[in-house]
Amino acid sequence: MKLHVDRLTDTPSEHAFTLTPSWWRERADTAPPREGLAGDVQVELRAHRMGGDLFLDGELRGELDLECGRCLARYRQPIRERFRLLLEPAGDRVPADPEGAAALARDGLYLSDELETGWYRGSEIDLGGFFQEGIALLFPVQPLCRETCQGLCPSCGADRNVEACACGEVSPSSPFAALRGLRNQMTGGDER
Ligand SMILES: [Zn+2]
Ligand SMILES: [Zn+2]
Repeated sequence: MKLHVDRLTDTPSEHAFTLTPSWWRERADTAPPREGLAGDVQVELRAHRMGGDLFLDGELRGELDLECGRCLARYRQPIRERFRLLLEPAGDRVPADPEGAAALARDGLYLSDELETGWYRGSEIDLGGFFQEGIALLFPVQPLCRETCQGLCPSCGADRNVEACACGEVSPSSPFAALRGLRNQMTGGDER
């Protein structure tokens, strides 16, 4: 994911990157393992120099591979996200946070929290960390295969999107059902 920044001029140039599912799995050790990329994510990027600063913008397109939080079905969700990034020369500056300092030393790139500005250093920068963080933000907090997903029955496990089960509204495993069962036993004992 290298970009030779020393070759950039004030005329924008086009660059393309391909982010593969295995690339994501290797890097995103913090992401839930059940989530990933359903296929390659294509990145189109334009870059040019403005004095000492670099301006990058572009778009990434692909599909996420997700697991529904209600019915556990796997499903794909298209992503299409524009981005822009303004980088200024780091010069002698060192980021205050150790992770940022390490990224600047390793990738030649230090990003602000909003992922829209940052510092660069050296003749080439590695955009892998930038792409990774950008994609991580696109994963839904509560993945749902569809808004109306009925989920799985908590007692028999049937997929309620596919079949109606006979469990009814009160699940036998609920505390109320257990109490009712206990009461039946006790009244049965009184009658004897
Ligand atoms: Zn679902
Ligand atoms: Zn059921």
